[in-house]
Amino acid sequence: MTTPAVLQKDVAQTAIRPCRFCRASLERTFVDLGMSPLCETYPSPTELSHGEVYYPLHVYVCDKCWLVQLEEYESVENIFSEYPYFASYSDSWLRHCEKYCAEMRVRFGLGEQSFVAEVASNDGYLLQYFVREGIPVLGIEPAANVALAATEKGVPTLVRFFGTQVAKELAAEGRTADLVIGNNVLAQVPDLNDFVEGLQILLKHDGVLTLEFPHLLRLIELNEFDTIYHEHFSYFSLITTIKIMETHGLRVFDVEELKSHGGSLRVFACHAEGQPRAISPRVQKVMNDESEARLDRIEGYQNFAVQVKQTKFEFLEFLVGAAKRGKTVAGYGAPGKSATLLHYCGVGKDLIEYTVDRSLYKQGRHLPGSRIPIYSPDHIRETKPDYVVILPWNLKDEIMTQLKFIRGWGGRFVVPIPRVTIC
Ligand SMILES: [Zn+2]
Repeated sequence: MTTPAVLQKDVAQTAIRPCRFCRASLERTFVDLGMSPLCETYPSPTELSHGEVYYPLHVYVCDKCWLVQLEEYESVENIFSEYPYFASYSDSWLRHCEKYCAEMRVRFGLGEQSFVAEVASNDGYLLQYFVREGIPVLGIEPAANVALAATEKGVPTLVRFFGTQVAKELAAEGRTADLVIGNNVLAQVPDLNDFVEGLQILLKHDGVLTLEFPHLLRLIELNEFDTIYHEHFSYFSLITTIKIMETHGLRVFDVEELKSHGGSLRVFACHAEGQPRAISPRVQKVMNDESEARLDRIEGYQNFAVQVKQTKFEFLEFLVGAAKRGKTVAGYGAPGKSATLLHYCGVGKDLIEYTVDRSLYKQGRHLPGSRIPIYSPDHIRETKPDYVVILPWNLKDEIMTQLKFIRGWGGRFVVPIPRVTIC
């Protein structure tokens, strides 16, 4: 039986997955983590009787521009309208932000006459430090509940999805910015080209754009596969980032390698046609590192899936072993990435009894998919578990200091990534 010609055409059209940046067809799998629930949807007790929607967590790499990416499965509005992540909750992250503001103020001579804009400004966690110095700011944040928290702390915030439309409106009002900031947002942008074009429009002729995002080189080297989840559509190397910036009339002139989020890049860019700026040797250094890791060839992407599977086996061996020995295991933290780790590894309440989190929003709720309950951190002191699995492993030093009292009953910490480590 032959398929009608019209249907064949439809099948061919749906089979093509265009790259989010260069539109080439995506043919190469980077890693396939199976089906997974949306990681920022924490079921409340009344929602436990409801089902959850699972989406494929299949990551591709574009063999034309090397952008590592997920297909977009969920409408952006569903993911971000009640985004429960309040950035202000981590002490080390706030220190990082305060330091950034001080550095930018000095390096680019920002003052009361300047204008600083941040896209995905969350609860004003970062802009508050510019406000404190009397520098005019504007946050742009799509999640209304989070934006309200920012406004309450004195950070003016526009509740919109950022893109060329918003940028053009602000530019038409003469509100282009001396400093445009995008921290941990680039990965979450479904229409990457519209977003970066918007940044270019929002940037004053001689202004500076800084973007922070997890570095793909570290994700691969340090096996950070749990940072892959549905809300993160793209994963960037500097090689690919420079191509994207150039396409939109922006020039990368400096880059810093940061420890945050398991290894991030802070990229500095300006208008290609703007004030001439010397290119820092750090740009070439990171490009060389990526080239050595073969991120400019398909070979650099081929072994990731193997090491991810190995971690799953090791994590399960530890958890099953502890359960068989009658030991109790609790989690610490309920970050988005815990959904990928626990779900991909097939871990439920039978292996990790509960987890705890400082966020009042998450307490009393459950992790997506695994339905592991989330309590206040006091629960660890009350129940004295033998092991505490640190789910936000990027904050492990801070958490181990906060929880050093578990040593009092012989408790030990488990860090699952990059390799399962008991300490
Ligand atoms: Zn591409």
